[in-house]
Amino acid sequence: MRLFRSGEILGIAEDALEFALEASRETHPNEYMGFLRGEDARSLGLDRRGTVVTDVLIIPGTESDPTSATVNSNMIPNDMRAVGSIHSHPNGVLQPSDADLDTFGNGKVHIIIGAPYERTDWRAFDQYGDRRSLDVLDVELDDPEEFFDFTEDDLDVDDA
Ligand SMILES: [Zn+2]
Repeated sequence: MRLFRSGEILGIAEDALEFALEASRETHPNEYMGFLRGEDARSLGLDRRGTVVTDVLIIPGTESDPTSATVNSNMIPNDMRAVGSIHSHPNGVLQPSDADLDTFGNGKVHIIIGAPYERTDWRAFDQYGDRRSLDVLDVELDDPEEFFDFTEDDLDVDDA
């Protein structure tokens, strides 16, 4: 018997959350909008089965104003594999709007960040718009530059 479905979202990396809060501040008074991508928890050194949100992806050409954000769907990569979405509410209301609920069907977790974008000014929702818990996890994320700078030892680590 499996305790967790393999696709379960365990939490969000602290760095990813901080990134989105900062981006929301910078985008104010307009909405900030991005998609959440995850990594397998075990690849991050956690002894749990599931997915950790590690990345916030901004789609080029996304246009926003104080009450909405419109993603240019032509710019969404075919292989994006998002686990959910994240966007800000410059009015500070930490509840999904009717328009939000229409888009929540795609993805397992949807985060709304509200002004003033402090550390606790966010909530997570499921695809039905109901609040869900989402742990903030202090995981070590790969520095993207390391990809170009690997050593021979790194070539052997994928053998588990
Ligand atoms: Zn919204």
